[in-house]
Amino acid sequence: MHPFTYTKARDTREALDAGRQGGRYIAGGTTLVDLMRETVERPGSLVDISALPLRKVTATKSGGLRIGALAHMAETAAHPKVRTLYPVISQALELSASAQLRNMATIGGNIMQRTRCTYFRDVTAACNKREPGSGCAALHGFNRSHAILGTSDHCVATHPSDLAVALAALEATVHLLGPDGERTVPFADFLLQPGSTPNSEQALHKAELITTVELPAHPRPLKSGYLKVRDRQSYEFALTSAAVVLHIRGGVIRAAKVAVGGVGTVPWKLPAVERQLIGERPSKALWAEAAEQAADGARPLQHNRFKVELLKRTVERQLSTVGGTK
Ligand code: SF4
Repeated sequence: MHPFTYTKARDTREALDAGRQGGRYIAGGTTLVDLMRETVERPGSLVDISALPLRKVTATKSGGLRIGALAHMAETAAHPKVRTLYPVISQALELSASAQLRNMATIGGNIMQRTRCTYFRDVTAACNKREPGSGCAALHGFNRSHAILGTSDHCVATHPSDLAVALAALEATVHLLGPDGERTVPFADFLLQPGSTPNSEQALHKAELITTVELPAHPRPLKSGYLKVRDRQSYEFALTSAAVVLHIRGGVIRAAKVAVGGVGTVPWKLPAVERQLIGERPSKALWAEAAEQAADGARPLQHNRFKVELLKRTVERQLSTVGGTK
């Protein structure tokens, strides 16, 4: 591990001052410390923000929820309002990492976590994300777990967060605080596709902090859920996943939100699938028909062609689980 300085911020002003001077924010540290041990990340200065008052889950006036960026994954998943109003969030969190990690890791850190591409974590391999311009060892290497959507010739790594898939489906927003004040970014614009600059991963300005993540109000009754398909049943990242949110009234689907994970360089929303569902009555045939479009635009690599069919089946199964069948 490379040498670094450590400061604990007592309030947001101290944190922002240190961030402006190039300090790197750390809270639970469950990703960053690993990467520092492997010398993938070499920050010269760490700013511990874990004491900032950003841990609450609060109801918004419009009927949504705001989750503090420093709320731990485990406590967020167990929060009664999250469980009742947005089960897709609780399920995505509980299917992530391990119990120990969920007790340490924060909501903000979960969104900010970096890819699990093995070449990214191997400092001897070419990786444009770690070292811009060095190449991408995964393009012609072993790429079974890599992305099939949103890829570029510069990077094909997936975003590893389950929570992010649920946030994409719910059309959440991210509240930020920086030296120039507060601003809000739709979650759909917060995580960046790699393009020619895969080292640039979030729409953050220098020294900005995530303060809360807001889940908007959705029409009720709302059914939602998260399905994760992986090589083993715990402590593993998704090969494919699906977050489905449905508003069904009078036997007709009035609103549908679907996002998938394990397949995109960012959580991948499926507007074509959503459009096909709205105005229809739930049925086995409808789920299958809609899911056929789940992999539209996919560009599979040598070892992950199986993800195209697996993705369609994942979406079909989760639509059926959340929406029921007749
Ligand atoms: Fe690096 Fe992305 Fe290529 Fe992985 S896929 S080696 S993260 S550039």
